[in-house]
Amino acid sequence: MKATALRILAALGCGIPFNFLSANGLPPLDWEELAETNPWQYTELHREVPVVQPGSAGSPPSDAIALFDGTDLSRWEQTPFGEGVAVPRTEVYLRRYLNGGDWGPATWTVENGEIVAGQRQGAIASKRAFGDMQLHLEWLVPELEGKGGQEYGNSGIFLMGLYEVQVLNSFENPTYANGQAASIYKQHAPLVNASLPPGQWQSFDLIFTAPRFSEKGTLVSPALLTVLHNGVLVQHNAVLQGPTSFIGEPYYLPHPPKLPIVLQDHNNPVRYRNIWVREL
Ligand code: MG
Repeated sequence: MKATALRILAALGCGIPFNFLSANGLPPLDWEELAETNPWQYTELHREVPVVQPGSAGSPPSDAIALFDGTDLSRWEQTPFGEGVAVPRTEVYLRRYLNGGDWGPATWTVENGEIVAGQRQGAIASKRAFGDMQLHLEWLVPELEGKGGQEYGNSGIFLMGLYEVQVLNSFENPTYANGQAASIYKQHAPLVNASLPPGQWQSFDLIFTAPRFSEKGTLVSPALLTVLHNGVLVQHNAVLQGPTSFIGEPYYLPHPPKLPIVLQDHNNPVRYRNIWVREL
């Protein structure tokens, strides 16, 4: 009896004699019959997948856009973004950015192939804008005498200039959970604390889905963010409630699908290196 006939009998509630079943209790597949129609081909996707050469320590994958490779800050500029105090203020910065303007070259320093975060020089932004992305960067908080809490190595990655992933020394340095390293600042604490001590390089790998807005500016879908801190999953497709807000509840501001990546100046000598992004 053909396997299909057995399935029809089974569907009709007819008992199938045991000797028609294979050892695991299922009807045996009739490969000769199946070969007449090759039904497995209907679920095969026949197209070419782009080839990417994976990166190695210190070098990005072949299709990544390097934003800092240890040489200079030619791909960065000063920016009006990157404060995150409150959404109404952020709206002003967003408008200022969208109205254009010359923010001048990035004034942060480069030392030993590393960026040293500004100290009251203002934030810097990638000249190129990004939306959905995979972002890799490495950062280091130097040992700082007499510093603690939010003052020990504070900086941050503002995706689209609006949504901050916190950079901070969170190794034996307590602070509020949704303000420690790898938090989505004031919105999501990291799932675990994967911090290394000050003086050691740490990595962030971020997978970001930008929010979508209708033509009228209403939110269609919120921003989503996954974060690996030193290779450990610490944010798992977290849903963002709006731009980072130090004071007050966040809420969305409509904005273009692509905006720059911003590094925060929080008056701390945090270092960055090996920054690359892949557009998704
Ligand atoms: Mg910060």
